[in-house]
Amino acid sequence: MFPGFYEEIHEEFREVVREFVTREVTPHYRRWDAEHIMDRGVWEAAAENGLLGLAVGEDHGGMGLEDYRFRMVIDEELARADALGLALALHLHDDWVLPALRGFGSAAQQQTWLPRFMDASFIASVAFTEPGAGSDLRGVRTKAVREGEDWVLNGQKTFIGNGISGDGALVLARTDGSDVKQRGGRGSFSLFLVEKEGNPGYQVGNQLDKMGLKASDTAELFFSDVRVPVANLIGEEGQGLQIAKAILPQGRLAVATSAAVVAAAVLDQTMTYVQERRTFDRPVAEYQNTRFRLAELQVSLEVTQRYVAAAVERFDAGELDVVAASKAKMWATERAKEIIDECLQLHGGYGYILEYPVAQAYLAVRLMTIFGGTSEILRETVASDLLR
Ligand SMILES: Cc1cc2nc3c(=O)[nH]c(=O)nc-3n(C[C@H](O)[C@H](O)[C@H](O)COP(=O)(O)OP(=O)(O)OC[C@H]3O[C@@H](n4cnc5c(N)ncnc54)[C@H](O)[C@@H]3O)c2cc1C
Repeated sequence: MFPGFYEEIHEEFREVVREFVTREVTPHYRRWDAEHIMDRGVWEAAAENGLLGLAVGEDHGGMGLEDYRFRMVIDEELARADALGLALALHLHDDWVLPALRGFGSAAQQQTWLPRFMDASFIASVAFTEPGAGSDLRGVRTKAVREGEDWVLNGQKTFIGNGISGDGALVLARTDGSDVKQRGGRGSFSLFLVEKEGNPGYQVGNQLDKMGLKASDTAELFFSDVRVPVANLIGEEGQGLQIAKAILPQGRLAVATSAAVVAAAVLDQTMTYVQERRTFDRPVAEYQNTRFRLAELQVSLEVTQRYVAAAVERFDAGELDVVAASKAKMWATERAKEIIDECLQLHGGYGYILEYPVAQAYLAVRLMTIFGGTSEILRETVASDLLR
């Protein structure tokens, strides 16, 4: 991020991550991008290097690295290697599903599942969005009906990351028996951890052909009479929306930090590029337009980094609420989008070629103002807080 943000212990951790990326990611990433899916082995290697579930405590076999800067080191190293799809896949697992399990799972659920999250025997998806419900989750129509010791799940989800490669999903479903064509109420929804294996009604639909981040698979999911044991209900029945809201600070912080990290990596690469690229017998870096642009972008990046760092500190202190996380995501993703767009311009035609990291980053950052709460929804969240 910036001088003084990390300590020696993070830099030591960075060595482990860098080694992992060099050995397990870089040699394969182009192929994964072309095949639109990653090898399962990368998850297993991440687990062997202790990179999954960093925050899980020692009582469950984890390292208890609650300090979010460790997560950011992973992101930085993946951004440096232009492996942004893997960064997204890890975020879904670690920053969306895991916090729900850690924060709201029972002792028995944590005992069963946390080790599986860390050893990569369970790769998780978060399955909230549906064709008719994205920003407005009260429109979720997937429903679960209690039958004895099971819940029976029926419905459809879309845009689900790790949907093909993963082993199951944290599913938001209507459980109050109300008419799913109407918007649900606050207590209408529940969350379930649903396993793919042994559930023939858990069907993976089409792989969605995204603009960017192609190595991370994204799919539709269909549930047809999927029997989910009562033991897989996360939190209380009817608490689904409240839990979804409770994990938003971490989820949104993750997108904010990713945006800052990717913007920094791209700006860094652009500095090198403009010094090497020559036009009219001069490096592009010598033109006043380039110099002024870079100066502005650097200041914008530094302001963003400081703002995001303050959010990280608040998160680590247990004080980052939804509004503060929304502000951080809104600011960081919008600035990153601008910075990367300008960097692409400074690359000329090469910036448009997918082989160049700036082009990949341009496509990746375009998702960041949409996924996990669109910028419009974030503005509403911030404004509602201001105008209460
Ligand atoms: C590549 C990709 C990966 C994703 N991964 C996942 C995943 O793993 N799991 C998951 O559950 N979801 C995932 N999503 C879904 C993502 O979170 C949603 O796309 C996002 O929340 C927006 O929902 P929507 O697409 O239905 O847009 P809509 O809600 O239909 O919004 C359409 C437009 O209307 C605007 N809008 C909506 N409501 C308001 C309002 N009240 N005021 C002002 N403007 C408004 C929006 O900002 C947007 O501009 C993913 C999406 C993509 C594209």
